[in-house]
Amino acid sequence: MDFEDPFMDTTDPFDAGHLPFENPAAASDPTHAEGADPILAVLNDTFGYDAFRGFQRQVIDHVIAGQDALVLMPTGGGKSLCFQIPALIRRGIGIVVSPLIALMQDQVNALLLNGVRAAFINSTQEGFESAEVMRQARNGELDLLYMAPERLTMPGTLDFLSSLPVALFAIDEAHCVSQWGHDFRPDYLGLSVLADRFPGTPRLALTATADAPTRTEIIQRLRMDQAEIYVAGFDRPNIRYRVMPKDRPKEQLERFLSAEHEGDAGIVYCLSRRKVEDTADWLQARGYNALPYHAGLPHAMRQSHQDRFLREEGVIIVATIAFGMGIDKPDVRFVAHLDLPKNLEAYYQETGRAGRDGHPSTAFMTYGYEDVIMLRRWLVESNAEERIKRIENQKLDAILGFCETTSCRRQALLNYFGEEHHDRCENCDACLEPRKTWDGTVAAQKALSCVYRTGQRFGISYLVDVLLGKSTERIIQFNHHTLSTFGIGKEQGASQWRSVFRQLVAAGYLMVDFEGHGGLRLHEKSRDVLRGEREIRFTHDPKTKRKDEKASKVHRQQRAISKETNFEDAGDRDLFEALRELRLKLSQENNVPAFVVFHDATLVDIVKLQPQNLDELSMAHGVGAAKLKRYGNAVIKTVREQNQASHDTENNTENNA
Ligand code: ADP
Ligand code: ZN
Repeated sequence: MDFEDPFMDTTDPFDAGHLPFENPAAASDPTHAEGADPILAVLNDTFGYDAFRGFQRQVIDHVIAGQDALVLMPTGGGKSLCFQIPALIRRGIGIVVSPLIALMQDQVNALLLNGVRAAFINSTQEGFESAEVMRQARNGELDLLYMAPERLTMPGTLDFLSSLPVALFAIDEAHCVSQWGHDFRPDYLGLSVLADRFPGTPRLALTATADAPTRTEIIQRLRMDQAEIYVAGFDRPNIRYRVMPKDRPKEQLERFLSAEHEGDAGIVYCLSRRKVEDTADWLQARGYNALPYHAGLPHAMRQSHQDRFLREEGVIIVATIAFGMGIDKPDVRFVAHLDLPKNLEAYYQETGRAGRDGHPSTAFMTYGYEDVIMLRRWLVESNAEERIKRIENQKLDAILGFCETTSCRRQALLNYFGEEHHDRCENCDACLEPRKTWDGTVAAQKALSCVYRTGQRFGISYLVDVLLGKSTERIIQFNHHTLSTFGIGKEQGASQWRSVFRQLVAAGYLMVDFEGHGGLRLHEKSRDVLRGEREIRFTHDPKTKRKDEKASKVHRQQRAISKETNFEDAGDRDLFEALRELRLKLSQENNVPAFVVFHDATLVDIVKLQPQNLDELSMAHGVGAAKLKRYGNAVIKTVREQNQASHDTENNTENNA
């Protein structure tokens, strides 16, 4: 896939003029903070955070000391600070390699707002703009410079960088070097040249893709065998996992949205372009601010939908997997899959786009038997090597197992990624609303035997009709109304039989035969079931709730938990709204997304602190020196005005009483 294309931002030429540089992170000069910890000082003063997360500090120390590092951290874990802070502290300019051209503008703007001297060079710029950036780099006026790999590996660029003091190279999305991965970028292979050209300069490779083969490949291809490897835990405790069998998926989605995520920003993934458009229309008709995104839409439309998703509040993007790589929006509150992703790696990466700010978020999925058929068919028909097909098939089995599991989903996920997680998480549907199981041995025998008697070549609908004893034209044509299994399943309805077949396929007792017409065949291990030597338990599919139950108490409670911005106090609520308006105004003035000005977490903190002066405001999460200077007075003014307003209301109420 060509990353430049879907993410290219041509509308927003680099203009350092509208974001004047401020004090270039004075605290980054260790001499300023005598006695104190200069690295912590940068975190506090420049970024406005109190403490390092996980092993951020270890990586930073290691890189400042001039060593290489490979950093594996889940999306939202905080990789950026691992290279931004060393770049501020080490002498020279930090070079950041990123494949995501359209994001460079936002990343650079966010840094400028924190008073960090950052810029980018890429193909969206006019020649004179890149020339100006190069001039700044030459004059030592930049702390960080972003560019795409194809630009960095050009001989001219390498020569130019050789003439500068380079503080470090940060290679973001480093898994793009892996030829097995679906994000492979040939230009990343050229980055190995840095090992020869800049032997004394520390290099950091960063990625959210954790598996061991990718890790090895990054080290080899970037020639970083001296690198220290830092692997963060991959748990995302703020994400609630919820998976349910398909039963009118669009309605399931609507119930989910209205019960838990009204007004929130989120991503809905579908497999096909048609379904993307269909679902977006359907949501729009129901009053949601939903926009389609897939590779078949005109470039300008994709760009504008992505911008609106980033800049406006509460936009839902309905997309194929073409959307999302590198989407840097911290307040995506849900990711919904209306189709089964092809493996758990893809699922985890896509759901990982929710809740990067650490606040409660949901990963929602509906999956059905049709998905399994479709994915298996793709695999059979693809022209991949047999070995790869076998692996992909196993991965598909793993995600099916995950869907059908009755034990904690987080445990299942983390185990799959090789991490132990001992306790139930109490934040997935399996923990919160355990599904009941039932003894399905006899039902399984009936279903499997029906498959066998009909010749192992029919699909689910046909088999269910035979079990229910329906004399359809086809059944009579094949003479199957005379079989012993005809009508032996009348004790349960069609939907429960479909659930039985789905679970038998998921558990591998039945296989889909793509050489023929997609009928079901028995697996070897089904024999034990038919002989009565193996017991089978099925889960009850959760009952689909009626629409009028949607605002049930449970859901409302869950919603209250999931929204920290549901303030009890009316004054707090008003202040939050006023701050949101202020944020919108400031973001429009600066031409950046609202979250670049302040995260929701910062607004929540301001409501809690009720700061009356700049000193108090500086304690709020995410408010560093530059933002304090730039926005502080406007925030204090808003807090005071709101205090005054609610004071007036109270007085009026008292007078009226
Ligand atoms: P990644 O690149 O790993 O996906 P980011 O570097 O974008 O993650 O960080 C995710 C979010 O967490 C950002 O909003 C960032 O500002 C915030 N963050 C990172 N480190 C810290 C920290 N030590 N304290 C508070 N917030 C942090
Ligand atoms: Zn759980």
